[in-house]
Amino acid sequence: MIKFLDLHKVNERYRDEIDDKIKEVLDSGWYLLGRQNEFFCKNFANYCGAKFALGVANGLDALNLIIKAYEFGAGDEIIVPAHTYIATILAISQNQCIPILVEPDILTYNINPDLIEQKITPKTKAIMLVHLYGTAVPMDNILTLAKKYNLKVIEDSAQAHGAVYKGKKTGNLGDIAAFSFYPGKNLGALGDGGAITTNDEELYLKIKAIANYGSLKKYEHRYKGVNSRLDEIQAAVLDVKLKYLDKDNERRRQIAKYYCENIKNPNIILPQVYDEAASVWHVFVIRTQNRTQLQNYLSDNAIETNIHYPTPIHKQSAYKEWESLSLPITEQICKEVLSLPISPAMSDAEVEKVVEIMNVYK
Ligand SMILES: *Cc1c(COP(=O)(O)O)cnc(C)c1O
Repeated sequence: MIKFLDLHKVNERYRDEIDDKIKEVLDSGWYLLGRQNEFFCKNFANYCGAKFALGVANGLDALNLIIKAYEFGAGDEIIVPAHTYIATILAISQNQCIPILVEPDILTYNINPDLIEQKITPKTKAIMLVHLYGTAVPMDNILTLAKKYNLKVIEDSAQAHGAVYKGKKTGNLGDIAAFSFYPGKNLGALGDGGAITTNDEELYLKIKAIANYGSLKKYEHRYKGVNSRLDEIQAAVLDVKLKYLDKDNERRRQIAKYYCENIKNPNIILPQVYDEAASVWHVFVIRTQNRTQLQNYLSDNAIETNIHYPTPIHKQSAYKEWESLSLPITEQICKEVLSLPISPAMSDAEVEKVVEIMNVYK
């Protein structure tokens, strides 16, 4: 059986170092906001090329905290891709802001930059981008628009740790970015975790306070804050895994390249990425008209697959108010996409097997 993502195997490669770090935290007797958090945040900021990183409890919190810090609220509009994981859009609506959905580009699955300007109104406050499937969004047009209309650019980089646009990493492409360290992400913890990165010190300090009960100094509460912190054990584990992130992403790139060069099947559309460094291949997404048939066929051949995502957000019961909305590109993508196994822990034999099975599919 070729698993979609064998997390045990992924983490087992760093088992000794992770064991030692967890032991170190246990021995220290200090479990929150300590040295591990400090080291990891410093290293993660460096990795992204940003001045500041703040560890938080998860990716959704990271997005939520960013919106809170900007004090966006009732009636404020935030432009966001219609095709994303629901967390991006939940963060907007949880703050009483209005998500303005923009269709993706059918070739890259990322937000179509040409459709953004027509959605901007006097109420627009920000563009919340998602580097979907691990591929950095081409930023030039977006940054120009943001400047022209005085909008904040917020990156949802939960799927793109290490992805590059014109020599700069995600997390350093807009005003501020949110990351998730959910176990299945390219940089994954052994539980929940998240971070924000930014070059704006004032904003960083404000979020640092909000995430810790509104306080930078014990028992002095400047904001009505929340509790959203990255714990010492997760920070320590992430600091170990961060050292290997580039190597792991390189292995993903190798697998993606092998898939793209060797899967030859007229019934399948392979992913398109505009530049080698742009994607860290969080998932490898193909498209096909007969998805259920292909998924069953792969399953019969012991290959596990996944769908990112089967139901558009505007068709979810949670967003009944969008029931009648028509977003044909998003709907088509959700109907046709299928994610093949990809992970830094896959063997060559497994990768070759996937290609072989894909190539005899009719
Ligand atoms: C995973 C993910 C999130 C949420 O991260 P959590 O840590 O699960 O809260 C947000 N946005 C995108 C695009 C994601 O893939």
